[in-house]
Parts: sequence; structure tokens; C-alpha cells
Amino acid sequence: MSEQKRRDGLTRRGFIKTLGLGGMAATGLAAVSASEATAAAGKNEGGAASVPRRKLGKTEVEVPVLCLGGMFDTLNNQLLLKQSHNWGVTFWDTAESYGGGMSEEGYGRYIKRNPDARRDLFICSKYKPSPPEKMTEALDAALKRLSTDYVDLYCPHGVSNLKDIDSRIPAWAAEMKKSGKMRFFGFSCHTNMEECLLAAARTNYVDVILFSYNFRLMHTPGMKEAVAACASAGIGLVAMKTQGGGPVKTDSEAELQMAGRFLQKGLTDKQAKVRAVLEEPNIASICSQMPTLTILSANVSATRDSGAMASEEMDLLRRYAAETRQGYCAGCGRICSEAVSGAVPVSEVMRCLMYYRDYGERDLAREVFAGIPEDVRARLNDVDYGRAEKACPHGLAIAKLMREASEMLA
Ligand code: SF4
Repeated sequence: MSEQKRRDGLTRRGFIKTLGLGGMAATGLAAVSASEATAAAGKNEGGAASVPRRKLGKTEVEVPVLCLGGMFDTLNNQLLLKQSHNWGVTFWDTAESYGGGMSEEGYGRYIKRNPDARRDLFICSKYKPSPPEKMTEALDAALKRLSTDYVDLYCPHGVSNLKDIDSRIPAWAAEMKKSGKMRFFGFSCHTNMEECLLAAARTNYVDVILFSYNFRLMHTPGMKEAVAACASAGIGLVAMKTQGGGPVKTDSEAELQMAGRFLQKGLTDKQAKVRAVLEEPNIASICSQMPTLTILSANVSATRDSGAMASEEMDLLRRYAAETRQGYCAGCGRICSEAVSGAVPVSEVMRCLMYYRDYGERDLAREVFAGIPEDVRARLNDVDYGRAEKACPHGLAIAKLMREASEMLA
């Protein structure tokens, strides 16, 4: 593929597809024009913030409560970046792994064309946990793609144990801050979130954590303790995967009541799930994949509505979460991994399944799955998951799901 084609639309495998909230089909909304979307969300062409802002922990920076997740074709969606900027969604998240650097390039294209925009933006990028030398190389490459000389936040990506972060990284982070290439240091995490948050709260080098957090995960005592510990330590918290997976088929009474109740308020269930996360005051921002103006507009509207969720509404979401818990892997990977003596990273495979089934992102699912060592993938069907299924607090049919993963993702 020529470089020109790559940049003009034929992007790396899977990158141009939509993610996160599930694309327009999943929102149940028709496509809207930029002007219609502007009207729907509250026009702010002047660029002043229209999305509420919260302080990001000890960084003291106020960021919008909505963060643009960059796992989409940012290169060819410059209008969406502009609208995001106009509406005050100026916290932009990306990673080297999103399109192999193309997401960063898309943001970079916007900055290059709108140099004044850089001062409005709070940019986060991420790279797999690596030794300091490799992190420096990755950061330099990211800065180049982003057309900027600093990132606001830089993170090892996909940490599932604080030991994943090289012991020399805290000193490296201090050095990078001093050099001006990075303002703040953090990490992202979608497995063993509670343990990682608690461990980070005991350190003094983590400024921000991006972690899986949604209406399914927010109510457990362990998660509440972890969030409170980080808040006390001044760590800024950014919620990811806030929709709690895709639709789960259920005949539950809670689901029916929930739909009726939210519709009366003019909210979709997806908007209600966003609002539920923001009920936690220690969550500074929600990082959401918003690859279309429809989704961006819906999320902006949800965050601008200042009315608190009623306790009955939170109860409905809690009941729905309880009744559909067997359809959602909560990322407590240490439990199932220990039960199979580390033979298979069950929660990682579950995440691939989520990308494949809930997000419809088959290529991405296969790419992430291919990142699991070949010998581990080869033994997926041979492991006895009996103990893991007994240990799983959410009652997932792990053996069946691992079998399906090996068939679908190979
Ligand atoms: S399979 Fe069960 S134990 Fe393992 S991460 Fe998912 S919810 Fe937790």
C-alpha cells in the first residue's frame, strides 16, 4: 500500500471502523449533519468550553468531563476533531497501538492545520509498558506524529499489575517532565483495576490513571475503596469502557423499566450510562470512542445536562447489571488466571471477544488476540477451566467462551 493511499483512507487493518459506543447502528440514531449536531449539543463555534470541566487530581488541570477516545480514523475525520474542539471536548486520548500510530497522526494533522488549537488541547498518548530507553524512543516518535513538542499525559498502556511498569520508569518520568516532553505521567488499565489503583495510590509517581469503570463496576466495595484511595493520593481518574460492554440480551424487568424511565427523561440508555459514571465526583473525565458526530453530540448532550441521576435510576442500572452479569467480563483477571495457574490470560482473551462481539471490531479483536503468545493461544482448548469457573465472581462460562474465542479469533 502506498503512503498516499494509507493517509487518504486506506488505513491500517481495522482502523477506519468505528468502536466504543458501537457506532451509529448501536446508538439507534440516524446520521446527522455537522450543523444539526451542533444545534443538538449546544453550539459553541467560538471554541469556549461547553462541556463541564473537572480537576484532574493533583495535576490541578481542569479537563472536560468528556475525553475523545482516538481509536478511529482521526486522519480522515478532521471535521469531527474540529467539532469536538468547538464543543470543548479538548481532552484527546490516543495511543501508538491505535492504527499503528495513525490515530496520533490524525491529531497531528489537526494541530498542524490549526496551530493555535494546541494550547486548548490536553493530549494523552500511550505505549506498551517498556524499559526507559524504549519509552523515550516511543515518546519521541509520538511527538513527531502528533506534530507537537510535548504531550500533556503519557502512559504505559494496558497495565494489569504495577510490576508491569519497569522500576526505572519513575525516574524516567521525572526526567521527561523536566525535559518538557511530557507534563504528567500515568498508566491505563483494564485488568485488575482495583489492585492497580490501590497499588498506585501507595506510590508518588503516578499523576493519572485511565481505567475500566462503568455502571457494572462502580458499586463494588473494592472499586469504591480503590477510587477513594486514588482520590486521597491526588491521582486524577479517567473512566474508560463506560458502556459496560455491548447489549446483553435479557428478559429482565429492570431492562424494560430502565428503557421506559430514561426515555421519559429524553435519555438513551447509553447516555444514562455516561451520566451514571459522572455521578462519581472523583472521576474527572470519561474517555469515550466517538467516531461520529451523532455519538459525539449524544455524549456532549449527556454531560451538559446537569441534573443528577435519581437514586431509583441508579438502582435500575444496578439491577440490570446484576441480572446481566454473566454477559460481561469485569476484568478481575487475577482470579481466573490464578485458577488456571497462569496457563491462559483469560481476561485478555475475554477482551478480544468483547471487541469482536460487542464492538463488531473483528480485525482489532484478531490483532489483540495475535499479541498473545502463540503457545498460549494453542492451549486455549486444552486447559481445564473448572476451578476458574467456580472462582469467577460473575459466573462466566469460561470454558465455552475460550473455545469460542479460539474458533473466532484464530
Ligand atoms: S472471567 Fe470472571 S474472573 Fe475472569 S476476569 Fe472475567 S469476570 Fe473476572
